[in-house]
Amino acid sequence: MNACTAIVGINWGDEGKGRMVDLMTEAYDVVIRYQGGANAGHTVINQFGEFEIHALPSGVFRKEVVNVIGNGVALDPEMLLKEIRTIQEKGVAITPDNLKISDRASLLLPWHRKQDELEELRLGAKQYGSSRLGIAPFYSDKYQKKTVLAGELFYPDYFHRDLEALRQWKNLVLTGVYGADPVTEEELEAWVQEYCEPLKPYITDTSSFLQKAKDDNKRILFEGQMGALRDLDFGVYPYTTSSNVLASYAPVGAGMPGVEIDRVIGVVKAYSTCVGKGHFVCELEGEEAEKMRIATGEKEKLHHRIGPMDLVATRYGVKVQAATEIALTKLDVLSDMEEIPVCVRYRLNGEETDEFPFPAALPEAKPVIEYFEGWMQDVSGIRRWEDLPKAARDYVEFVEKQIGCFIKYVSVGPERDSVIIR
Ligand code: GDP
Repeated sequence: MNACTAIVGINWGDEGKGRMVDLMTEAYDVVIRYQGGANAGHTVINQFGEFEIHALPSGVFRKEVVNVIGNGVALDPEMLLKEIRTIQEKGVAITPDNLKISDRASLLLPWHRKQDELEELRLGAKQYGSSRLGIAPFYSDKYQKKTVLAGELFYPDYFHRDLEALRQWKNLVLTGVYGADPVTEEELEAWVQEYCEPLKPYITDTSSFLQKAKDDNKRILFEGQMGALRDLDFGVYPYTTSSNVLASYAPVGAGMPGVEIDRVIGVVKAYSTCVGKGHFVCELEGEEAEKMRIATGEKEKLHHRIGPMDLVATRYGVKVQAATEIALTKLDVLSDMEEIPVCVRYRLNGEETDEFPFPAALPEAKPVIEYFEGWMQDVSGIRRWEDLPKAARDYVEFVEKQIGCFIKYVSVGPERDSVIIR
């Protein structure tokens, strides 16, 4: 049994990480969120119901698991508190014993969301497609050292002095740059009382807790958000998120900088989707996209751009995540396709390439598509590798060979146990 494992996205996000974390948490004592804000959602389906979780670690549904929100996270008190209450109402216990928030996590403040929205409006047609939850302004402010840390709530004089100085500074931007209304002292104080004060029991020195957990040989799971192609440094910049999503960042963002991660489980979806902007080389359009949407049940999600499995991008994602094994999700949704398209290479500057291009070259890259025989059989009830139809096994093995990483888990449904473990 490995002590430290990260579960991370290999593509553009929505690969099914939440579902894998929910499955894996059984074997772990601690689950940590180490980066990002409440802009990405994980879908978890278990005995308590179906949940979209944005701010909490996916281990909250297992009684024995301690969940940690690390210092690298954009801590949105409003979203977090609402999520805690929604989940508690469904009968799931969330207490300071099983949820711990790092005292070094910076608070996402009310003006971050406001600024995010104002900037997208200013950009008009050139906007980034931000979720408008304030993540980009939050991280830029953090790097400017213009946020407050959650632990400052225990030092009220310090906290209020700090926050008031930030409010005055940020109002210069809101009113001067964007011509918007300022945030008033009363609004800010009401927000602190309503959303921050109730979180205080959960805020603690999580690094000390984690050090002790490590010393006690507890098993630790790092839960990544989004996918490798959205990583601030290695993704499709500037259409990335504003933090590092990579497993190698997990120890820092989690609050245990010296720890070594033994296993990196990269989650890959059996086809591609991309929410938001940015060049998405394997994107299908028109009738072909429609066919794929129907086959994959993505018809409702018109904001998801869709395409076949992209081996070039996936291989790159595996490399930058340094994945040691893969969980391939949603194999079941390809079951109705007579032939399965796969993007095997890109064509760029008149040549075919296996290498994922530099962001500025992406607009010129075109996909090279090959078709695989489909299996035309429902595989959602299958739990053993050898029971999968041969065409499905061939598809998985082909992907595995191309991306150069062992596919240990094949997920065939959203439910906790709908998985084949090889
Ligand atoms: P995440 O952000 O990576 O956690 O991905 P999401 O949870 O947002 O999106 C994945 C969606 O696919 C959710 O609705 C899951 O319930 C669903 N899902 C995950 N794995 C599978 C699978 O193997 N088969 C099917 N049919 N659905 C899956």
